[in-house]
Amino acid sequence: MSRILVIEDESDIQTLLRFNLEREGHTVMVAGNGNDGLHELRRHPFDLVLLDLMLPDRDGLEVCRIMRADSGLSAIPIIMVTAKGEESDVVLGLGLGADDYVTKPFRIKELLARIKVRLSRHRDEESSAQRKRLQIDKLVIDPIRHQVIVGEEIAPVTLTEFKLLHFLASHPGIAYGRYDLLDRLGDGEAVVTDRTIDVHVRNLRSKIRPYDHYIETVRGVGYRFTETG
Ligand code: CA
Repeated sequence: MSRILVIEDESDIQTLLRFNLEREGHTVMVAGNGNDGLHELRRHPFDLVLLDLMLPDRDGLEVCRIMRADSGLSAIPIIMVTAKGEESDVVLGLGLGADDYVTKPFRIKELLARIKVRLSRHRDEESSAQRKRLQIDKLVIDPIRHQVIVGEEIAPVTLTEFKLLHFLASHPGIAYGRYDLLDRLGDGEAVVTDRTIDVHVRNLRSKIRPYDHYIETVRGVGYRFTETG
């Protein structure tokens, strides 16, 4: 079962796609325009995007370009759904990094077959990436996408907060001092105090609830990630 985002403004096609994809066992979310689509992509993890090219706000090509420039979204397969007469846009879209396309009116069986191919390739790539992921309960730390996923949601952590969490979670049970952590973050801030780390930890904890207690305060030392398993 995969999570698929349909970015499409025509309600008939939304319904058709949702019905058929759900029947295949996929989880489907629908966004009616480009901005909503990008918003969903930044909030939830997806395995594939079906992208209409003619959208009311940002067109599909722009969504494609934005996704490919965003390290958190760049690996998600995109299948463009185009109307007749958009052949030149198809060429542009493939150049921007879309993986495949179908032309309306499409045959649903053909689309499902193309989706299957993309998902299985994506899974192969993901499984090698997953070996580098850390998962503790439903907290996932993905160093390839620089993403933290809590349950089904992407936590809006900054790069510094990501590095801090990834470092601590990679060394569970070991307490690190504040200056030690600052060194390892190497975020190049000109003026830092040891309290800078406390601010980062406070913000980070608030973003990874209910797993915030995994980052323990060690009195007189600094912080450590709970030893698990
Ligand atoms: Ca459209």
